[in-house]
Amino acid sequence: MNKIGAFLKKEFGSRVVKLPLDGGFTCPNRDGTKGIGGCLFCSSTGSGEFASNITESIKLFSDKWPDGSKYIAYFQSHTNTYAPVEQLESKFRATLSIKDPEIVGLAIATRPDCLTDEVYSLLERLNKETFMWVELGLQTIHDDTADFVNRCYKTDVYDEAVAALTSRGIRVVTHLILGLPKAAEGTGDAVSESREEMLASVEHVCKAPVFGIKLHMLNVVRGSTLAEICPNYVPFESIEQYVDLVVECVRKIPNNITIHRLNADTARPFLISPEWSMKKRTILNAIEKKLASMDAKQGDMVE
Ligand code: SF4
Repeated sequence: MNKIGAFLKKEFGSRVVKLPLDGGFTCPNRDGTKGIGGCLFCSSTGSGEFASNITESIKLFSDKWPDGSKYIAYFQSHTNTYAPVEQLESKFRATLSIKDPEIVGLAIATRPDCLTDEVYSLLERLNKETFMWVELGLQTIHDDTADFVNRCYKTDVYDEAVAALTSRGIRVVTHLILGLPKAAEGTGDAVSESREEMLASVEHVCKAPVFGIKLHMLNVVRGSTLAEICPNYVPFESIEQYVDLVVECVRKIPNNITIHRLNADTARPFLISPEWSMKKRTILNAIEKKLASMDAKQGDMVE
């Protein structure tokens, strides 16, 4: 598999660790600009349970990786292009100026509907100065699911953002969630997207010239609307069912696309379900083992 860890090691000649940061931004899907209450699955930390300010994050991660690793400043929490452009520039540049430990790049997570012309220009300038990618939280290409989870933008907005970023030479990483709920026909009850729908999302993303893809199962997390309205929602019956789906996803991802994640990364105190999503090593090993047993690999089902 073309994993981002190995890609970065080759690019920079040493281990590169992503430092999850909370840049102090907010989200237009919480403050009423785009929506209220946020996406159904998102906790009040804006999906940044591990993120902290730069000093704390460096301390935490340099203790974990004390061997002179290099770092990518990962603006993870909330929407990291949702602020005046001067403020964005000053925060991004402040992290890039850190020399000990060495920050070698930027990863900026955002919504595709929060990219103005001014933001594109800033990203284009930064991209010429440092290694960088923009991570877009798409989650699904199916607008009925997106409406159910209160994403508050349509998929064509994502397509336009990918075209605008890639035409400027900016790397795009797309984030998809497997097992999102949508309304069942007739009853309106929450049911998981079908396997075909999830695979269609992967194929759609991979048709564009994206740099990377990030997949993980839906987690029900404390502080999310999902935890309030469907606390017992279970998208996958078992690890095996999840692994089986991910293997097919991986086979549909072309080899030139880097894989950033195949399982969720929720901090234990925030996780309600599925409990097994904490078994990250077990899940990843099972994916590798299943691929090997089928003599299958990334990209071998690309049409
Ligand atoms: S997932 Fe992203 S866009 Fe949705 S509410 Fe959370 S921070 Fe906002």
